[in-house]
Amino acid sequence: MKYKSILLFGAPGSGKGTQGKVIGNILGFMHTSTGDLFRALDKNSEMGKVAAQYSSKGLLVPDDFTVNLWTQSMQKLVDAGKLNPPTDILVMDGIPRSVKQAELLADNIDVLKILSLNVSDMDMMVDRLKKRAIKEGRKDDADEKVIRNRFAVYEKETQPVLGFYPKDKIATVDALMSPIRVLEAILKVLIPIREAVDAQPAKPSCCGGH
Ligand code: AMP
Repeated sequence: MKYKSILLFGAPGSGKGTQGKVIGNILGFMHTSTGDLFRALDKNSEMGKVAAQYSSKGLLVPDDFTVNLWTQSMQKLVDAGKLNPPTDILVMDGIPRSVKQAELLADNIDVLKILSLNVSDMDMMVDRLKKRAIKEGRKDDADEKVIRNRFAVYEKETQPVLGFYPKDKIATVDALMSPIRVLEAILKVLIPIREAVDAQPAKPSCCGGH
């Protein structure tokens, strides 16, 4: 079964994590962030070292490594009974971040909608990221050179992901509005989607079909 998913899309600092965490607290939604998964890895483990090698420079961690880590993490949530794929909607924050990742995930996720958090003023994003770096102790966003590199990587590798999905799946939200306004705009998109999933008849868990 494919995971029902909403993709949160946007440049670093556009508010994907802030909004994703709030939405993930609503019944029937689960927030998943690859940035958080990488930061949670033990820094001395082989996997932690690989992730840090790329993220400290603002580069994307290799696609196979990223998709494997994400897939394993989702499976762990299912096994622990925290994620119920037939009914729960994943709020995907920071993945897919390249066309290759979108291709690798195509068999695993059913993309219900893409919420593109649009930013017209990148300099404002630099300020946001620097403030967040101090608050959260994030090394990658403490260095303006790394931040600029993250934007460049976003434009070159992540923006093209939007072209991978049908246009009518994409809803654009102005990320420079106040956080609560951004949330309001997101909820307007998500409520009908949640209700449509709720209205689907429950499938038998096993052995039906003959
Ligand atoms: P984030 O917290 O989403 O800004 O991600 C922090 C860093 O983690 C990024 O700059 C990348 O180095 C890495 N990262 C997060 N998500 C991905 C992804 N889907 N693919 C590759 N690298 C990622």
